[in-house]
Amino acid sequence: MLTVQEARDRILAKIATLEPEQISLESATGWVLAEDITSAWDVPPFANSAMDGYALRSADIRAATPDRPIALRVIGEVQAGYPPPSSVVTGTALRIMTGAMLPEGADAIVRVEDTQERDHQVEIRVAVEAGASVRHPGTDLRAGDLVARAGQVVTPGLVGVIASAGRATVRCVRRPRVLLLSTGDELRPAGEPLGPGQITNTNRYTLRAAIEETHGVVVDAGVAKDDRDALEAGLARASTVDLIVTTGGVSMGSYDLVRRLLEERDSMDFWQVALRPGKPLAFGSVAGVPLIGLPGNPVSALVGFELFGRPAILKLQGRTDLLRPRQRAITDEPLAGPPHLEHYFRGIARRTESGLAVRLTGDQGSHVLRSMAEANCLIVVPQGTGSVPAGAEVDIIPLAPLP
Ligand code: AMP
Ligand code: MG
Repeated sequence: MLTVQEARDRILAKIATLEPEQISLESATGWVLAEDITSAWDVPPFANSAMDGYALRSADIRAATPDRPIALRVIGEVQAGYPPPSSVVTGTALRIMTGAMLPEGADAIVRVEDTQERDHQVEIRVAVEAGASVRHPGTDLRAGDLVARAGQVVTPGLVGVIASAGRATVRCVRRPRVLLLSTGDELRPAGEPLGPGQITNTNRYTLRAAIEETHGVVVDAGVAKDDRDALEAGLARASTVDLIVTTGGVSMGSYDLVRRLLEERDSMDFWQVALRPGKPLAFGSVAGVPLIGLPGNPVSALVGFELFGRPAILKLQGRTDLLRPRQRAITDEPLAGPPHLEHYFRGIARRTESGLAVRLTGDQGSHVLRSMAEANCLIVVPQGTGSVPAGAEVDIIPLAPLP
């Protein structure tokens, strides 16, 4: 049986970065850049005022104090977005707004709060240095500066920098299309009453959310009944996607048809991973497209997605940070399980004076989806470890910001 790491390596070996497309900045946030971005020009492009106030010559007001203000003649006003109406000569000032161009002749701004204007005369009550409250050209970006690299995720801050660098569109890696198919005769859509033996198809919702959170586009193939024709029909659009994620049908039961289909077509790469929850995980391909066959149990499906599906979807986007960073925490309670498996318990981590501590979410049954909703982390007990006593240090994978 493969280890988690081996299984993930086998999957990632079959995944290559998708091709780029040109998209507008309006929709670029969350996408991964497929090009380096350099600035077309200096930002800001011109010297401008950081304050509402008066543009003047600092030498004129070197002796100004609150008790002995110095009066200057106000010869006009500069508004943001317009060239100054005139230059500033000794003994004069221009009223200036934040972001407006610094007029020729002026070398500093005195803010409104330190002045008093009446009858085209302004009293300056403070002395300022040359350059005071002036924003110089190129202090944000210089023409030719590298502002972002291929592989970076576009964030709200970065999209603004790309815009100010002179771009309206950007090349980003195409979003991966992920076919999502649930299998099982017992499955009903959310909100529908349940007949005998039926359950709600929670995987369809959890995995859609997880795929979209990873910036994939879900191609919803709905539910396939546990028969061969239904399964083949559910996979009919396989060749139109970049990855297939199925749930159910990969265990030892009589109706576990996903596994059988891959085996019969000789397109199974591996089956079973030394993992709990989620051991009966299958990986293969349909129509040449990689297929991750997650187990049906809702917790196993989500943990399996976290460990294998998420890194695959990130790699399709050219991301290199495929795994969430781990942290160390002290476990409140003992953790135990068969040593030949790697365990991913659902935990609630909290900060203490001595670092992070973590407790279990309660029942760790792979059908107890609540354990996944309450968890803010997965607790990892590596293969070969078996049991961990209370008070020992363990690895955790935060799934949410820790309190
Ligand atoms: P299977 O892997 O198909 O044998 O399913 C294992 C367990 O997971 C069974 O209890 C199924 O009823 C349950 N299950 C399978 N698919 C889903 C699903 N889409 N949503 C919720 N539970 C499921
Ligand atoms: Mg089933």
